Parts: sequence; C-alpha cells; structure tokens
Amino acid sequence: MRLLLLGPPGAGKGTQARRLTERLQIPHISTGDMFRQAMAQGTPLGLAAKSYMERGQLVPDDVTIGLVRERLGEADCERGFLLDGFPRTVPQADALGRILGDVGRPLDQAINLEVPEKRLIERAVGRRVCPNCGATYHVVYNPPRLPEICDVCGHPLRQRDDDREETVKRRLEVYYQQTEPLIRYYEEAGLLKNVNGDQDMDSVLEAILLALGNR
Ligand code: ADP
Ligand code: ADP
Ligand code: ZN
Repeated sequence: MRLLLLGPPGAGKGTQARRLTERLQIPHISTGDMFRQAMAQGTPLGLAAKSYMERGQLVPDDVTIGLVRERLGEADCERGFLLDGFPRTVPQADALGRILGDVGRPLDQAINLEVPEKRLIERAVGRRVCPNCGATYHVVYNPPRLPEICDVCGHPLRQRDDDREETVKRRLEVYYQQTEPLIRYYEEAGLLKNVNGDQDMDSVLEAILLALGNR
C-alpha cells in the first residue's frame, strides 16, 4: 500500500506511522526524522535544513523533494510505503504525483489526522524523544517508566528544540498557510480519508485501519 499521513504538528503522525508500518510491513518515511538524522550527523543536508527547522519554517521544496525522490527509489519501497510529514506544500504534492506517476504506482490513500488546535500545542510541548533510538513519549499521555529515561534503550530523553511553545505556534501558522490546503487537494483527487485523531492512541490506530478497510 502507498499511503501518506497528513496532519498538523503534534497530531500523532509519527506515533501512528510507527504502529501502521509494523502492522502493514511497509517502510516509514518521515522527512522530519531524515532531516534530524542528517543534522545529528552534520551532513550537507543537515546543515541546509538546520536553520529552517530551528525557526519552525519549512525546508525549501527543492531540497525536500530531492530527498524523497531518492528515498522512494530504494528497493524496499517497491512493496509500498507510508509517508509521514511529506508532502507539506502543493509543489511537494505535485512532485510526489509526478514521481509516482512516472513509475506507474500512484498513491492509494491520504489519511488526514484531525486534532483540535489546543490539543496540538499540549501534545507537541509535552513530547519527549530519545536521541539514541528515536522512541517518542509524552510527559502525560505516554510517559516513560522512569522519568526522562527511554524505556527501550535507557538513554536520557530530551525535548526537541522546535517543540518549545513559541516555535510550535509558528509551526502551526506555517501548517495552516502551506499544508492545510493539501486536505482539499487530496479530497479532490478522491484519495482523502479523515480520521479523528482526538482519541487515545489505540483508538486512533483502529480508526485508521477501519478507514483503510484493513481490519
Ligand atoms: P511534526 O510532525 O511535529 O510536524 P516533523 O518532524 O514532521 O514535525 O518536522 C519537523 C521539521 O522538519 C518541520 O518543522 C520542517 O522544518 C522540517 N520538515 C519536515 N518535513 C518537511 C517537508 N515535507 N517540507 C519541508 N520541511 C519539512
Ligand atoms: P506528529 O508526528 O504528528 O508531530 P507525534 O506522533 O510525535 O506527532 O505525537 C506528538 C506527541 O503527542 C507525542 O508526545 C505523542 O506521544 C503524543 N500523542 C500522539 N498521539 C496521541 C494520542 N492519541 N493521545 C495523546 N497523546 C498522543
Ligand atoms: Zn531510546
């Protein structure tokens, strides 16, 4: 299955993507994770992305599209994939359409996670991540067993630099301006499924699977 997850920052895309890709046995492609990894490694891509991410702005389309085009060309994507956080602009969506159209493998579905704004801020600000293994927690909704320590690998957790309240608000503005129009875009393409993301994590997963007709 070729899928993408749409939704504002903090909606739960990453959380659901990890569960879905395990269940569906397809690769999870998160542009945010790819940029953070490149930053941690200090590669040219990471250096190019850093200043935008720190300010809560989008990384330019040409950089982002090039990255995704390369990733989708890898062998593991032949059996499908789940895009998380891409596309985020209309030019990115157009480019994705061309990339997939060229190989005759169009997108199957776009899942849109709907979450009210006040919850988004609460979710993003309370998010904690493991810099070692990538696991994600929430101080209230999904706390680690020991405070600020990763359950999986024991590494100390941290807050993402761009998850401070001020930057989260800027990212939400960017979302409404540049990404929200994609809901209409995929609706018009007949590919959109809206899912209520304002429920517990297990219920959201069930709702997504139901929307995919895959229970
Ligand atoms: P969230 O899921 O909280 O919105 P992500 O991890 O998906 O955050 O993205 C973090 C940051 O990485 C974004 O604020 C942006 O700077 C950059 N980024 C991720 N995906 C894209 C994209 N498709 N286009 C441009 N920038 C992106
Ligand atoms: P996104 O990738 O859309 O930015 P994440 O999946 O990283 O969002 O989730 C943001 C934060 O909210 C994380 O701390 C996560 O643990 C928490 N979270 C995700 N889904 C839910 C949910 N259904 N209920 C409560 N908290 C959630
Ligand atoms: Zn860890």
